[in-house]
Amino acid sequence: MEPESVLGVLGGGQLGAMFTMAARRLGYHVAVWDPDPEAPAHRVATHSFSASFNDQHILERFADLVSAVTYEWENIPAALCRALEQRKPVRPSSAVLSVIQDRLEQKGFLTSNGFPVPAFVGLTVPDQLATTVQQVGYPALCKTATAGYDGKGQWRIARESDLLVAEQALGESVRPGMRWIVESLVPFERELSILVVRGADGQSRTYPLVENEHEEGILRTTKVPAPGSSAVAQRAAALARQVVDRLDGVGVFCLELFQLPSGELLINEIAPRPHNSGHYTLDACSVSQFEQQVRVTCGMPLGEVRLLSPAVMVNLIGNDAATLMKDASCRALLDIPGAVLHLYGKRTIRPRRKMGHVTFLGETLSLALDHAKQFREGLANGSTLSA
Ligand code: AMP
Repeated sequence: MEPESVLGVLGGGQLGAMFTMAARRLGYHVAVWDPDPEAPAHRVATHSFSASFNDQHILERFADLVSAVTYEWENIPAALCRALEQRKPVRPSSAVLSVIQDRLEQKGFLTSNGFPVPAFVGLTVPDQLATTVQQVGYPALCKTATAGYDGKGQWRIARESDLLVAEQALGESVRPGMRWIVESLVPFERELSILVVRGADGQSRTYPLVENEHEEGILRTTKVPAPGSSAVAQRAAALARQVVDRLDGVGVFCLELFQLPSGELLINEIAPRPHNSGHYTLDACSVSQFEQQVRVTCGMPLGEVRLLSPAVMVNLIGNDAATLMKDASCRALLDIPGAVLHLYGKRTIRPRRKMGHVTFLGETLSLALDHAKQFREGLANGSTLSA
């Protein structure tokens, strides 16, 4: 693809902004399409479209302008991708997006191809929650089949007495045609994830396995590389390649995994795009997940994956970013060795909203972990002071 070509990205959140910055560094222009005019990627884009994703007129203009299209999250309409695909390459394809964006389709695809996932059953009528939970057993987790993220649209059902509350919540949120997935709540030892990038020629590369900690369903920290045996990392890498090969996916993908006490790995979900747990690649790798997304979207060769330094990524959620910028004692936290700050420029702070992240690079993982811990403790004190 010629330098100066325009790449299109659907969705303008921080992932779209980081894609845009990587594309511009390679000499491309980017057209961002996100209905929210405040979306961070609009600010770094060459061309901005803030219309609804159903706007036919904008679809035509966008398709005329761009040479290839990608997206930054899986909840954009697959029909839009299908329409754009008639005109320009869309990576990953709309067929891949359709499988991934519906949890039931995704888990069905994984099980029918022999990949390991938690036990699950589909649910179409809220009244049948009790019988469905019985099929997977207690404790269970009920999730909306589409449009949920960061733990939104999820209900834990640990015991029979939780059914009533969950059933009521399902009933209140119900829309025509809505479906849910009821999963067995897995007693995992830890959560892991792995990025894999695959080109149109079927070549793929995996990034190191990483370990993630979540708080209230939201990613809080990522450790790179995941501590523990290299055999687990090799199994995860093989799994990631096989899944994306089977999907015939072209793009950047992330597999979220549960490691059971037995060492067995189960797939929680696949993201068809760069992932929050891969933000460390911006500062700790030769080629970041976003540069890979640019390369794959343009049909360029994949970049070498080399981890240059162990790292710990800490997400800045809700008030964290304000605390960091306001409070002098907290600002001093950024003097912690190896800290690299990323702020997404979101104007409105909301609880649970991802506002930025800090990556701590260290000569050893243990050093990076110490620095991340010091940072988080300082942030917690700062939050308490400013509350
Ligand atoms: P998700 O939106 O599916 O990625 O879920 C968000 C978080 O909820 C995950 O990172 C896990 O911490 C937890 N979770 C999701 N599904 C399960 C499950 N089947 N068993 C245990 N924990 C889960």
